[in-house]
Amino acid sequence: MKSGSARSKKLCGKMRTFLPAVAEQLFGDIQKNYEETTQIPDDLLIALKFVFGTCALQALDLVDQRSVTCLSSPSGRKAFQVTGGSGRLYTCFLSCHYCPCPAFTYTVLRRNQGLLCKHILAVYLCQAMAVTQQESVSDQQMSAVLSGTEGP
Ligand SMILES: [Zn+2]
Repeated sequence: MKSGSARSKKLCGKMRTFLPAVAEQLFGDIQKNYEETTQIPDDLLIALKFVFGTCALQALDLVDQRSVTCLSSPSGRKAFQVTGGSGRLYTCFLSCHYCPCPAFTYTVLRRNQGLLCKHILAVYLCQAMAVTQQESVSDQQMSAVLSGTEGP
């Protein structure tokens, strides 16, 4: 018996927040389990795949590689930098739910087919598992990051 992967990704409600309640709860459960056991149980992994599709696995890879860094500046700004598989650095903002990668632009913004890309998902997972690398930057550096003018 093969279970067909039906791709019914219709989301109800137009006034949804960045994440549906089911996703919020999933991250909460992951956080709780990871705090207690430093592992994500199989049922939660399956739920992750169910809610986020293939990008769940890619995001978990990014988490394993500790690819997520939280930059914070003295003035209290925060941005997340995720090193993608190709070594490219993506700056994501949870506060405005944005990632500059092509997948986010096409899948999330244009076609409204997904909730988020693997980078943003990786940020949420790293936050839930408390494995985000922390880095303090100056306000000046943060401005450069926010305006996308940071050097390589
Ligand atoms: Zn992305």
